[in-house]
Amino acid sequence: MATLLDGKALSEQLGPALRARVAALARPPGLAVIQVGADPASSVYVGSKRKRAERLGFHQRSLSLPADASQAELLALVAELNADPAVDGILVQLPLPGHLDSTAILDAIDPDKDVDGFHPVNVGLLSQGRPRFVACTPLGCMKLLEHAGIKLAGLDAVVVGRSNIVGRPMAMLLEKANATVTLCHSRTRDLPAVVRRADLVVAAIGQPGFVRGDWLKDGAVVVDVGINRLPDGRLVGDVDYDAALPRCAAITPVPGGVGPMTITMLMHNTVDSSERRQARA
Ligand code: NDP
Repeated sequence: MATLLDGKALSEQLGPALRARVAALARPPGLAVIQVGADPASSVYVGSKRKRAERLGFHQRSLSLPADASQAELLALVAELNADPAVDGILVQLPLPGHLDSTAILDAIDPDKDVDGFHPVNVGLLSQGRPRFVACTPLGCMKLLEHAGIKLAGLDAVVVGRSNIVGRPMAMLLEKANATVTLCHSRTRDLPAVVRRADLVVAAIGQPGFVRGDWLKDGAVVVDVGINRLPDGRLVGDVDYDAALPRCAAITPVPGGVGPMTITMLMHNTVDSSERRQARA
């Protein structure tokens, strides 16, 4: 029977240590979350982040701009937060409305407060194997694997999806952990054959049940990053979970796998940032 890589349980387990680190600081970690517009899914994510930050004793600021906010307004808000000594972490909830240039906004965040790990400086540090802030979702996947005692060195790992938020940094982290990594995307030839060779599969595509059970090698470890809402309201991953379960050695459920770990890693990055910044002050 496959081991469930339970991100909800691990998140709860990591809570007390984070809380203890917060309590040891002279001032609480400051996290600013910016939301532009009122996309319902984004509002749910922002709400979860706010609640978790409050539960951990952070100084939490939720900043909302209207959907028609200008690039200049958003850049001015980022500049204000960059300059605010009580703010250790700045997060701009994605996706931004289409008229805004997300790349320019993310580039404007002080790399020392970039708790999402999307700034080119932090991506560059990760690519050189000396990570500072690492994107929360791939970092959460790594913590789940580590906690389950899965030894990554020498494994054949296949990551499906090459976004800057998930697939690409995931591939870098697995390579740093000495796995042999193949990064796949929409132009990959014969994806099922590539996935069949994998000891570890990470699916970050955004299509429900895209990775079939019979694509998996017996005993593979499966990390399903996908979060897809079906017409009947159910949330499912990018892997056909029921078909994968009897074949794999371990798998993340959706929901309750990678999702909760993403939020926990945001908190972890913010505490790291606050400790570093307060030690320097
Ligand atoms: P993107 O849409 O940015 O990237 C999707 C990737 O999948 C692209 O690299 C794309 O390839 C690849 N892809 C699309 N179709 C195929 C195909 N037919 N065959 C092979 N590869 C394909 O998505 P994200 O990375 O932002 O998100 C992926 C999923 O993860 C989504 O379901 C999202 O909701 C979820 N997610 C979950 C999080 C969590 O906390 N659990 C956090 C972030 C995202 P190409 O580059 O060639 O277009």
